[in-house]
Amino acid sequence: MDAPAIAIIGGGPCGLTLARLLECKGIDYLVFERDASEYSNRSGGSLDIHGETGQQALDEAGLLDEFKRHARYDDTSFTLSDKLGKRLIHTGQGRDAPEIDRVELRQLLLDAIPKEKIRWGHTLTGATIGHGNNPSLEFSNGVVLSGFKLVVGADGAWSKVRSVFTDATPKYSGKTNLESSIDKESPIYDITASKAGPGTHVAIGSGKLIVTQRQGNGSYRNYFGIPISEDFFRNSAMDISGTETIRDLLLSNFYADWSDEYQNLIRHATRFRAWPLYTLSVKDMGWKSVPGFTLAGDAAHLAIPNGEGVNLAMTDSLKLAFKIAEHGTDNLAQAVQEYEADMFPRAVGTISEGKAMLDIMYAEDPQSFLQLLSG
Ligand SMILES: Cc1cc2nc3c(=O)[nH]c(=O)nc-3n(C[C@H](O)[C@H](O)[C@H](O)COP(=O)(O)OP(=O)(O)OC[C@H]3O[C@@H](n4cnc5c(N)ncnc54)[C@H](O)[C@@H]3O)c2cc1C
Repeated sequence: MDAPAIAIIGGGPCGLTLARLLECKGIDYLVFERDASEYSNRSGGSLDIHGETGQQALDEAGLLDEFKRHARYDDTSFTLSDKLGKRLIHTGQGRDAPEIDRVELRQLLLDAIPKEKIRWGHTLTGATIGHGNNPSLEFSNGVVLSGFKLVVGADGAWSKVRSVFTDATPKYSGKTNLESSIDKESPIYDITASKAGPGTHVAIGSGKLIVTQRQGNGSYRNYFGIPISEDFFRNSAMDISGTETIRDLLLSNFYADWSDEYQNLIRHATRFRAWPLYTLSVKDMGWKSVPGFTLAGDAAHLAIPNGEGVNLAMTDSLKLAFKIAEHGTDNLAQAVQEYEADMFPRAVGTISEGKAMLDIMYAEDPQSFLQLLSG
């Protein structure tokens, strides 16, 4: 295979946005994605895409009009309540941060990239600097590739490319979000819809939270955010594979002092999935440049979810694509140096903000979050 100038590892929002932008600029690239095909892994919640970051990247990629056809502009409202169900604030209507399901965003980007530019079923297992500072890539399917001038690690939280720069690995925050669904057929669908409306409802109390958010198909997704050990859902002595066991665990150990309406959300929740929340540290930022490599998105600056992750990931892609176009593929070192100098302060900002949000969101009461929203 004749290697193109740029290899992008990871076909998430970051990698695909970069691919589309390079496509628009006529710069050759290949994306390597671990998913077996575009039809696998079709899950993920709703993401709000902000005007000055995510939408700007889509605009530069020539995809803003198509995005607007899918985006849910009515779903930006936000309600905050306490654990007894008292509504404290209802805000956010008309924000320039429309929602789109992750699957739809991915499809929109995939449809704008030639199929032959994405290598599915390629899980990167190792990245090294080979002869003459040439990056070398190893994949779990036995493929070994070299000859790229630049490898962009857009391979998310557990990036394999990151090890080229640093030993830093994400640290567990002490909190896990248990995702679950309330479908339209659920007996509590109507009451859930009346509480959360078209947008997002957050309840905070006793160091825990419940987020309820409408999805593109009209169902609701709940996140039960709880303090629990890192590997509880992997190594528990309890049999936690059953829905009833998880419901009992939440009701008796975490939400016993919450009002009945929240407990009902738990009693009717289905399809639980655990998201232990991890973050990189600000101390991890500012690595020394390595010829032929860079990082973008969560691979570069994984933070506690704070509503910015996907937007910053797409902004990284926008800035990197501009720098590559400005300096050309014969001067990628300069492009990367300027991109990273711009990216690190944003990375430090989002990691710090994520940590601060953790204290506010998993608080004894919702007052700090209320102040933030009121401000
Ligand atoms: C529970 C939860 C809720 C969130 N909610 C929001 C929200 O509301 N708003 C928001 O802005 N952000 C949210 N985020 C954060 C957001 O999802 C991320 O910041 C965003 O997806 C980062 O995009 P990315 O492309 O950098 O990484 P990812 O979306 O993680 O994509 C990485 C891609 O790389 C692929 N990959 C991984 N490893 C390899 C490998 N070794 N080889 C090849 N391919 C690989 C993956 O399959 C994936 O396609 C949330 C995160 C979580 C966990």
